[in-house]
Amino acid sequence: MRYGLPIVLLGLLAVCAAAAVDVVTATTDLASITRAVGGTRVTVASLALPDQDLHRVDPRPSFVAKLARAKMVVRVGMDLDAWMDSLIQASRNAKIRKGAAGYVDASTGITPLEVPTGKVDGAHGDIHIYGNPHYWLDPENGKVIARSIAAGLSRVDPAGAPTYQANCETFARRIDARMKDWQAQAAPLKGKQVVTYHTTWNYFLRRFGMTLANTVEPKPGIPPSAAHLNALIAAMTRERVTLVMTAGYYPTRFTDLLAREAKATVLTLPTSVGGAKGAEDYFGLFDVTITKLRDVK
Ligand SMILES: [Zn+2]
Repeated sequence: MRYGLPIVLLGLLAVCAAAAVDVVTATTDLASITRAVGGTRVTVASLALPDQDLHRVDPRPSFVAKLARAKMVVRVGMDLDAWMDSLIQASRNAKIRKGAAGYVDASTGITPLEVPTGKVDGAHGDIHIYGNPHYWLDPENGKVIARSIAAGLSRVDPAGAPTYQANCETFARRIDARMKDWQAQAAPLKGKQVVTYHTTWNYFLRRFGMTLANTVEPKPGIPPSAAHLNALIAAMTRERVTLVMTAGYYPTRFTDLLAREAKATVLTLPTSVGGAKGAEDYFGLFDVTITKLRDVK
């Protein structure tokens, strides 16, 4: 009897491990939230790397292999990860096709910013045609994402539904608790005007009361012209905007110019989980971002 229990437990663990739900996510952010919701019932792999321009991920054969084995896929949607369409198709996995039980579009339920009105053409840039897809950078949206993931996991693994529901609620409570800290830490940033390379942080800025003065890109995905940069430098100087937020995968030549000509501080920030030291999970991503912003002199 003394040794009976551990053997039973081992047996249970083996069963759980064998039955783990294989989830493939587009990004590390979605992977982090899926881990929080799925707990020990899931194994999760992200296709995109943490420090990658998510608009431009090169499809690889290994991605197809991962998707072929997956029971569920979680994508950002809003055309950000349009590169996943052909991969899902190539995987020939009916379980994760659009509309199938194992297909989760994490943008479901999100209120999108900057949805274009009227005809979308090249004048708006070649990306963000359904609005700004960088919604995961508002922690409040993390709760919406978690709900979509919990619903998806409950469809593909009904036996785990109570666990997913409970984990989802725990995750939301943790966001609420941390939001108080983040808002307090970000209080000195309220009203601060910033320039960002791309419209990556619009959801983040809105949540924490910061203002987007301008972007280095004249339109999402379009590199700046000399005329745009000159106008930007003039406006930054005139309006005393001295902070530029960029990501490691964007070219430095334009932001270097702003540092020199507009005497701006250029801050390179993570845009996904794993993109910087300390940003090891979804909560860490905001810890790092807010700390770095607050520490700018
Ligand atoms: Zn974008």
